[in-house]
Amino acid sequence: MTTTTTPERHRSLGDHTWQDQAVCHPSECNPVDPEVFFPGPDETEKITTALSLCGQCPVRLACLDAALEGGETHGIRGGLTQEERAPLHEKIAKRLDYARVNATLAGRDIHLTSAERRAVVLAGYRQGVTVERLAWLLKITEEHALKLYRETRRAIRNRDLQQSARTGQTSGAVGDRLERIDFGTAA
Ligand code: SF4
Repeated sequence: MTTTTTPERHRSLGDHTWQDQAVCHPSECNPVDPEVFFPGPDETEKITTALSLCGQCPVRLACLDAALEGGETHGIRGGLTQEERAPLHEKIAKRLDYARVNATLAGRDIHLTSAERRAVVLAGYRQGVTVERLAWLLKITEEHALKLYRETRRAIRNRDLQQSARTGQTSGAVGDRLERIDFGTAA
C-alpha cells in the first residue's frame, strides 16, 4: 500500500496530548464507563453508546491512527468496532507513505511501518545523511544505523552487478557508478 498524505496530520510518536480532548476521557464532570468501549459481540446497547460518543469526539482521527499504529485490535476505537478495524490493521502493516518518509527525514518523530523505515534508510543513504543523523531519526544506535547503511550499499551494489550482468556492462563501469553513490563517511 503506497500512499501520500499531508505531513501535518501525522501524529508524533509518543504524543498522547490528543487524549485530553477525547470524549471518552473520564473526569469528575464526564463520568464515562470505559467498559462500553469493550462490548461483547451481542451487547448492542454498549456498542451504540460507544459509537455515539465517538461520533461526537473531536480527536476521532488521532484516536484511530493511534489504535492502528499501536496495534490495538480490541474494543471500539476511533468510531470503529474491532471487526471494522481488522482490515485496516492488516493494511497498515504494508503502508508505504512517502509523506511520512519525507517528514521523518526532515526531523519529524512519527510512526513508521517497516517498509517506511527501509525507505528512510535508502533515501538517507542516497542523500548523504550521516550515520549519526540516521540513528537519531530512527531512534536506533549509531552501530545499528551503520549496519543499515552497509546493507543498503550492498543491496545497491548487487543490484548494479545484476544489471551489468544482464546488459554486459564491464565491472569497471559499475565500479565508477558505485563510487558516485558510495557515501564513504555514511557507510
Ligand atoms: S474516538 Fe471514541 S474511543 Fe477514540 S478518543 Fe474519541 S470517544 Fe474515545
